[in-house]
Amino acid sequence: MKWKEILIRYGELSLKGRNRNQFVRKLKKNIQDAMTDLQTVRLRAERDRMFLLADSEKDMNEAIERLSHIFGIQSFSPVAMCDADLDAIKQKALEVIGTEDTAGKTFKVEIKRADKTFPYVTGELQQAIGGHVLHHFPELTVQMKKPDILLHVDIRKEGAFLTSKVYKGAGGMPVGSNGHSLLMLSGGIDSPVAGYLLMKRGVSIDAIHFASPPYTSELAKRKVMDLTEKLCSFGAPVRLHIIPFTELQQAIVQQVPNNLSMTTTRRMMLQIADQVREQIGALAIVTGESLGQVASQTLDSLTAINEVTATPILRPLIAMDKLEIIELSEQIGTYDISIRPYEDCCTIFTPSNPKTKPKLEKVHHYESFFDFQPLIEYAVNNREVIEVWKEQEKDEFEDLL
Ligand code: ATP
Ligand code: MG
Repeated sequence: MKWKEILIRYGELSLKGRNRNQFVRKLKKNIQDAMTDLQTVRLRAERDRMFLLADSEKDMNEAIERLSHIFGIQSFSPVAMCDADLDAIKQKALEVIGTEDTAGKTFKVEIKRADKTFPYVTGELQQAIGGHVLHHFPELTVQMKKPDILLHVDIRKEGAFLTSKVYKGAGGMPVGSNGHSLLMLSGGIDSPVAGYLLMKRGVSIDAIHFASPPYTSELAKRKVMDLTEKLCSFGAPVRLHIIPFTELQQAIVQQVPNNLSMTTTRRMMLQIADQVREQIGALAIVTGESLGQVASQTLDSLTAINEVTATPILRPLIAMDKLEIIELSEQIGTYDISIRPYEDCCTIFTPSNPKTKPKLEKVHHYESFFDFQPLIEYAVNNREVIEVWKEQEKDEFEDLL
């Protein structure tokens, strides 16, 4: 037997009461978007679950791979369907078990009888189906606790659904079901992980990156595009805003003493990010900051930086250790991109002795001798916007590699 359908379970979604319809619609759209190039795939959403149908085996396997990355899915299983009739179920059970390697394996039948009018009780069904399977697969032995093969039979009014496989979904909520935010995406390890965690909670994102050509290279930009593309694979297209930051950084170096220039740099970045955020209608800014990791991430520094805006700044990594963050970045596939050696704008202009407790009065004092606003405006207005979605937009970089 070849699987043709996948049952998709929502998990947390089903708890969401009134918002549920909207969540299900968003999830359906995200799954559709992720499968657009698979010609034989179709989707059918029901109130508490969804079915993906695929006619070709290749599409089926590809769909299983892609579903495991899409937020809002608790688990999914390839299923076989038949009439809600005991003989039909027994026959289908053999086909389903036939897809498994049964040599020396243990086995159990689990029944869910959603249709209470079905004329057999659970115990009877378990015995009838289990006995039939054992008769045809005598190499199997029954085991109630943690069997190798769990045959799940779900009997509903519209038919019986059988499966022997459960794949874990990515969990979380469908991207886009919890609003929109702007992610400050450097080329480092942390910020892509921060973006991933927010997307997992259903937040769709645009990304903003500060580049300082010619001090930063085209390859640094390519790195950030590759990181953005990875983030897209978790459920929704991500737009990338590349900010020309060179002139501002040069002005900062001239106006502000070395040990405070990092604080001012961050304050300028945040003001630019906030204007872009407003233009795209996002509600919050997301960063990869983690408490105490570097001088700009002490509570004093965060306070001094944060002063420039009242917009919520979401810092999902704030309490995580670097090693935990690295582990996550390896899991989500951003680590190998993040460790490519190209410098970003901060690395190049980083002073050797940044203050861990910058005094706000001092920062105000040095910033007051120069009008940064025109440069901020220039940076916002002259940004490059790239729609990153899968393989698009990359060709122009191919010859650089
Ligand atoms: P990351 O690994 O994300 O680069 P980090 O530990 O290197 O973080 P910093 O360089 O101090 O820390 O940056 C702190 C945060 O500021 C980053 O997580 C990111 O959100 C933002 N940020 C830093 N540099 C840039 C940049 N060039 N473009 C956009 N955002 C940036
Ligand atoms: Mg960094």
